[in-house]
Amino acid sequence: MPRRHIHASSSMLPSLGLPPGSLADIDAAYDYDVETDPPAIEPVEHRIRLDFMAGGAIRYDQLLTNYDSRDRDAAETDPWHHAGRAKPLGMQYAEGTCQRRLTEEARYYESYDDEDTLVDAPAFLAHRLRQARSAADPEAALRSERDRRETWYRTLIPRLNLCSVLKRSSYGTLIDDGSDEMPEDHDLLEYNGFVGVIVLDPDHDPETYARERNLPSRYVVREQDLSSGKVEEGAHSSEYGLDLPAPLLVGEYASGSRYSLLPWSDGLVCSCPFKTGAPWRVMCKHELLASIVLGAQESIFLPVTDGLDIPYRARRFVSPTVASTHTPQLPDDEWS
Ligand SMILES: [Zn+2]
Repeated sequence: MPRRHIHASSSMLPSLGLPPGSLADIDAAYDYDVETDPPAIEPVEHRIRLDFMAGGAIRYDQLLTNYDSRDRDAAETDPWHHAGRAKPLGMQYAEGTCQRRLTEEARYYESYDDEDTLVDAPAFLAHRLRQARSAADPEAALRSERDRRETWYRTLIPRLNLCSVLKRSSYGTLIDDGSDEMPEDHDLLEYNGFVGVIVLDPDHDPETYARERNLPSRYVVREQDLSSGKVEEGAHSSEYGLDLPAPLLVGEYASGSRYSLLPWSDGLVCSCPFKTGAPWRVMCKHELLASIVLGAQESIFLPVTDGLDIPYRARRFVSPTVASTHTPQLPDDEWS
């Protein structure tokens, strides 16, 4: 598998070998297999990150308490309205993005047998539409796919995913619960950190590796010593085609977890089990935190709050292409 190597600023650090699936889809070396690779970071996902960046900090008192996304009533009423709380602006933008993506994707269903049109479609949708073409009843397969996608944008993303993250028991575990003030990014980074580390495979000993390269040993970790390395708790870098040792950003969170951020689909994906455990989820609480930190810093590159000077690609959270074209907007009225 061809891969691009990005060298760190120090020769003591290993290079970052980028697998084809981590590149931008406009890159000539980009390659992605819907059936065998982990889910791509979808266009809507990059945009929702930008929405929460633009929406600014979220106060503890804006977070939901007892929202149960499986509750039938919860799917029909706005949970913030129901709870009498102020809905975070980033969430309103995210709803606007879901609404507009649904409209923008209409053309793919209308021209699903035209390969030139599908070239621009998100990889997963293009794959499903190609499958629909060869179904026994293509029109029925197409309708079913369209319904499925609509459910994702209308219910799964905003209600089952984002409302679950915007709870005191989720994102609330990463921020200060005592203040009614809007938390600043330095407050968020007081409790949470983004650490530049060398992640090793099980065959390497961190102490030996650090000594041989004159690196502080606290910034050299085995993958299995991160929270994602605990039994079945999250994704492994090998699933994303990454070779170890690799210079990566590891989030160290107020909730006590440590998860690496893996280069993928022109951005980074959190390796925690919430994010990687279900392909329809577009954001975990760690990615929400990263978005809000980046919004305050007006950057798409996460800060290295501690540790080694890792390559910029290992810190680039959002696709630069999407960042340069997306404008967060509120949903239109008819969206419910
Ligand atoms: Zn996560």
